[in-house]
Amino acid sequence: MAPTHTQTSMESTLLSVRLKAQIARTGPISLERFMDVCMADATAGYYPSKQPIGAGGDFTTAPEVSQVFGELLGLWAYAVWQSMGSPEQVILAELGPGRGTLMADALRGLRRLPGFTDCAKVALVETSPPLRQAQEEALADPGAYISWHERIEELPPGPIIVIANEFIDALPIRQLIWRTGQWHERCVLIGLDGGFAFCDGPPLAVENLRRNAELQQLPDGSILEIRPAANAVITALAARAKDAPLAALIIDYGHEATGCGDTLQAVSRHKFADPLEQPGNVDLTAHVDFGALKDSAEANGLLAYGPKAQGALLLELGLDARLERLCQDATQDERDGLMSATQRLVDPAAMGVLFKALAITSQGLAPPPAFGNSA
Ligand code: SAH
Repeated sequence: MAPTHTQTSMESTLLSVRLKAQIARTGPISLERFMDVCMADATAGYYPSKQPIGAGGDFTTAPEVSQVFGELLGLWAYAVWQSMGSPEQVILAELGPGRGTLMADALRGLRRLPGFTDCAKVALVETSPPLRQAQEEALADPGAYISWHERIEELPPGPIIVIANEFIDALPIRQLIWRTGQWHERCVLIGLDGGFAFCDGPPLAVENLRRNAELQQLPDGSILEIRPAANAVITALAARAKDAPLAALIIDYGHEATGCGDTLQAVSRHKFADPLEQPGNVDLTAHVDFGALKDSAEANGLLAYGPKAQGALLLELGLDARLERLCQDATQDERDGLMSATQRLVDPAAMGVLFKALAITSQGLAPPPAFGNSA
C-alpha cells in the first residue's frame, strides 16, 4: 500500500511549526510529549495521517510477512477460549490492528474450527482513520461482527481474548538521563541551527531510581526508558479481568529485563532516520521493556507468562505442520516464498528472538498454550 508522504508533507511541516511554537512559548518539552504529538496528533500525527505498513510503506510487520502468523495466533485464541470453558459470548480484541491482516488470517482459520466464530465478537482498538478503513476492507467478509473502539476502556464487557502485535512499541516513552548524580527528564528544544535537539530537563524527584543508579554506579549520560502508556494498557486490562476471564498475548520487539540504553528509533521507508527530523512523517518507536510490563501485570493482580521468543512461540503453536499443509497445494515458487517468509519470523538472526511474546491472564485460568509453566 502506497504511503501518503506527499499528501501529508505540508501538514507535517505544520506539526514542526506547531511544536516549535509551543517550545518557544513554554520552553523545552519532554521526549514523551514530543513522541506523543508526532505519532498521535489527530490531524498531522504519523498514525492518524498515514498508512505506513507494508512493502510500499515505512515498515513491515510479522502478519504482513506471512499469513501463518495470524493463523497460529488464531489457534492460540481458540485454545484459550476452550480453556475458559468455551463461553457462549467472547470478545476477540486486537489492539492496533494495522491493516487488519492478522485478524483476517486468524478469522479465516477460526471459521474452520467448531463453535468459536458463533460465539465471538471482534473488537478492534484503533485510533487511526486511514488504518480503520484498511481494516474494514481487510475484514469485509460477511458473517463477522466487528466493532471499532478508541480505547481499551470502551471494549464491550465479558470474557475477552486480546492480541497486540507491535502495538506497545508505538506508544510514547519517557527517557530519564543520569547526570551528575541526578535523573533528569530528557527533553526537546530548538537547537542553534533552528532544528529540534535533545536537552536535559530539571532534576527529577525519583528517590528510588536515584538510589538504584548510585548502587549500579551508572556512568554519566546513562538513559533509562519508562513507558507510562504501556502501564495504562495493563491497568485497563486488569480492571476488566476483575469481572470476567481475560487472556492477552502481547508481541513486540524488545528486551526481557529492564536496563539502561537509548532505544528510540525512527524509520522511514524501511531505513533508519533521525527521530527529531520530520515530526509526524517518520515512525518513532522504542524497544518494549518486557520486564517492566510483566512486573506491572503482576502488580495489578494478573498472571504473566514469558516473555517467550517469537520463533519458539510460533514453532510450539504448530508452525511446521501449518507450513507443510500450505506447501501441499503450492507451486514450487509459492513454496519457496512460504518457506523464506516463515523463516524470517522464526530465525534468531531475523525476527525470531528480538521479537518476544508476553502472555497475561486473569486469575484462575490455566497457563495459555505455549506458555506451559513459565509464569
Ligand atoms: N498490529 C499491526 C500494526 C502495528 S503498527 C501489525 O502487526 O501489522 C501500530 C498500530 O497501533 C497501528 O494500527 C496504529 O494506528 C495503532 N496505534 C498506535 N497508537 C495507538 C493508540 N494510542 N491507540 C490505538 N491504536 C494505536
